[in-house]
Amino acid sequence: MNKGLLIVVSGPSGCGKGTILAEVLKSGNFYYSVSATTRAPRPGEVDGVNYSFLTKEKFEELINNDGMLEHAFYCGNYYGTPKEQVMKNLENGKDVILEIEVQGALKVMETCPEAVFVFIMPPSVKELRRRLNKRGTESEDVIEKRIAQAISEIKLANKYNYIMVNGELEKAIADLISIINAEKMTRKRAEYLINEVLENA
Ligand code: 5GP
Repeated sequence: MNKGLLIVVSGPSGCGKGTILAEVLKSGNFYYSVSATTRAPRPGEVDGVNYSFLTKEKFEELINNDGMLEHAFYCGNYYGTPKEQVMKNLENGKDVILEIEVQGALKVMETCPEAVFVFIMPPSVKELRRRLNKRGTESEDVIEKRIAQAISEIKLANKYNYIMVNGELEKAIADLISIINAEKMTRKRAEYLINEVLENA
């Protein structure tokens, strides 16, 4: 069986990647990797659904036991992708989606160069500021910190295979689905089909 496609999606806080991914997940048969983190759950977040919420000790144990595909220290907390389920699903031919920040994605570029890397940007820094203000969940200085963080993340977008802009939500959803579909038809991933077609004579 052909191996699944590993899709790595990053984008700054407030770019809308969560909303886009929720729709893309409905459109196909994906395994969405639930990350582990040491940050506290936000209201409404469920352990094992949004994240596996771990203590620092447990997280470090996983790192030391080679249980993480990647991990990063971001805004004072650990975040990481538990390796086992990702690898199992890929081996079983299932496409896997990781939603991770840039440092983690750069590590996956080294260990899994065959993955496809997509960076989602807001239409402009001005628009990002407007969206974060509208959300109204953060104070002004926290918003400015997030914007500074977003700018440094966007500067690394040129490391990704695809760079897309979330201007209009419906278009952004369609764009990400197109990227995934096109990637699955590249020669290196679809070459196995040639024999299948020829054998079925
Ligand atoms: P939040 O605390 O807002 O849920 O996530 C903060 C950042 O951590 C987001 O950019 C999110 O994509 C990223 N993140 C979530 N899970 C992982 C992970 O497993 N690994 C890495 N490197 N980043 C992650």
